[in-house]
Amino acid sequence: MAGRIPQHFIDDLLSRIDIVDVIDSVVPLRKAGKNHQALCPFHEEKTPSFTVSQDKQFYHCFGCGANGTAISFLMEYSHMDFVEAVETLAAKAGLEVPREGGYVRKDDDRTELYELLELVIEYYRRQLREHPLATRAVEYLKGRGITGELAAKFELGFAPPGWDNLINALGKSDAAVQRLAAAGMLIKRDTGGYYDRFRDRVMFPIRDQRGRALGFGGRVLDEGTPKYLNSPETPVFHKGRELYGAYQARAASLDRLYVVEGYMDALALVQFGITHVVATLGTAVTRDHLERIFRLTSRVVFCFDGDEAGRQAAWRALETSLPLLNDGRSVYFRFMPEGDDPDSFVRRQGRVEFEADAGLVPLSDYLLNTLRGKFELGTREGRALFLDAVAPYLRSLPASALKRLLLRDVATLAAADPADLDALLASGGPAKSAPRPAAPARTPARGTDRTLVGQLIRLLLHRPELALLAPEPVELQGVSLPGTDFVQQLLELIRSNPGIRCATIVEHWRGSRYEGRLRELAAGSEALDAEDFDLEAEFQSIWREVQTRKGRQRRKELTQVERLSDLSEEGKAALRSLGRPPKVDAGE
Ligand SMILES: [Zn+2]
Repeated sequence: MAGRIPQHFIDDLLSRIDIVDVIDSVVPLRKAGKNHQALCPFHEEKTPSFTVSQDKQFYHCFGCGANGTAISFLMEYSHMDFVEAVETLAAKAGLEVPREGGYVRKDDDRTELYELLELVIEYYRRQLREHPLATRAVEYLKGRGITGELAAKFELGFAPPGWDNLINALGKSDAAVQRLAAAGMLIKRDTGGYYDRFRDRVMFPIRDQRGRALGFGGRVLDEGTPKYLNSPETPVFHKGRELYGAYQARAASLDRLYVVEGYMDALALVQFGITHVVATLGTAVTRDHLERIFRLTSRVVFCFDGDEAGRQAAWRALETSLPLLNDGRSVYFRFMPEGDDPDSFVRRQGRVEFEADAGLVPLSDYLLNTLRGKFELGTREGRALFLDAVAPYLRSLPASALKRLLLRDVATLAAADPADLDALLASGGPAKSAPRPAAPARTPARGTDRTLVGQLIRLLLHRPELALLAPEPVELQGVSLPGTDFVQQLLELIRSNPGIRCATIVEHWRGSRYEGRLRELAAGSEALDAEDFDLEAEFQSIWREVQTRKGRQRRKELTQVERLSDLSEEGKAALRSLGRPPKVDAGE
């Protein structure tokens, strides 16, 4: 694993780039007063409510609540992960991304593998065009309806028969052979030496979303086994994480994404104009897969064969999806008729039939219909068993509108009181198969926050230099207002980083339990532009209020101690200095 990207680098990066440039290059912005505006790229709208603040280096949509920094924008709009977003911005700023720890060498190793695999892709493609025995591969592809254009788009190739074609072509030295083996392209002989892993197969290169070459799938041309062979796990290839076609699909408009099981299924759909498709690599759908998928789209359609194996795979996909179903995300199933796979179905019925909404089964329907079919709902005993069976699935769903609707329907089916259902769900604890879901990236706008500490944070995010008005050293210890520990950290961060802006502050708490709330407050702080008051006076008045509460609280504590007649001379002096004579009951 590569080392962590140091926080000081993120700070530096954010001070060098401008969020207005970053967003404007993909979503054209218009200047509107102090800020920039556009039609929101995250929801449908007719009048612009998407606002970008250059001052704060932060965006916020008043319509759907989307908000964040330049890094968040690339993650959410361009579907990058955090590291990709940082690397993209760094490249824009002409910076090299440093890593903590001594892992740099490993990164170099991986780069070497990516580059080597590019050469291997090129080699197999050339064999498909030029090798005297490639005719069978070409005929196979033609027979499956793959055009030359599609073969070129997906860089299909041919591994010729023989044990050492690739070794002879690219393994000129021992070191080169070692690298080919590390890339998963060779197999070690018991007697020493290596031979080609892929022989006499049509080759499907697998790239990640950034286009880096990771490995291959290879399909046999005769009746040999296995029918499909994948690259083994290597430092760059992890079968349970990668999706075939993700690189080609990311360019498509992704109002939905089809997930199929096989390479040929994916290619057939693309051939028929359904370009928003990815394939798992012969494994069940994993949580890693789903996290990647939900970065590309919020609406997933799993396509499974209509046979028993397909149903089983679908159920596993359902179980894996449940914990990730935050508001805004939806999962559907598209079952092929018995005897069909997506490849054969789309060729016979065409695109329109394949994409027809009538064929989509919403996850919640699939869940309820499958479970209710197993129990005798006409009897109380049957309904109780049904409730026991459905409870773990409901528990693994994060709180969402869908969950509330499902609960209602389950209660109706079981002729149970919804309140009893809540108790039943609460009693069982979280389902074992359901790890805590990640917080939704988009927090809904909640309007301005008027709690004292929230308001203080909001002001500091809006204008960090206000921190300098707080007397030094900051004395918030002992104030048991919720959030004062956080304010303490925030003030220290701002003091030690003069000139820090809102976006940089928010990035400091990325991934922590404060992130969501902080982003909400940062988004809400735009209202401060409109509220025409003296920010400094506002800050000082809140600060005084916090101090007053602190004093009141301390007094209360001391009085309580005194009642236990345990107050030291020092304590009595403290109490007097707080403006209240000892021995008087605090009537608060
Ligand atoms: Zn929006």
